[in-house]
Amino acid sequence: MEVRIWPRSMEEKGGYAMMPMKKNVPVGHDDWELTTCPECGCECWKTPLLPIVIRQGAAALCTECAMRKGMAVNSAKSKSGG
Ligand SMILES: [Zn+2]
Repeated sequence: MEVRIWPRSMEEKGGYAMMPMKKNVPVGHDDWELTTCPECGCECWKTPLLPIVIRQGAAALCTECAMRKGMAVNSAKSKSGG
């Protein structure tokens, strides 16, 4: 049985974009925007990179949520993107 929630671009690029959490990084850069994590609702920073990775099919989550999900989804795959 197959349950498909996300478009398949999720599989190809997918993954999760980490947003720095405000509790970890109290002062953001000039081009960062304060937003909230869609998963846990904590305050985190939207970096200029985010729209790009979202377009590639990634979901933007705070660091903690992204790590939790990331561990579950791709533990072996890792591409260093900076
Ligand atoms: Zn979160």
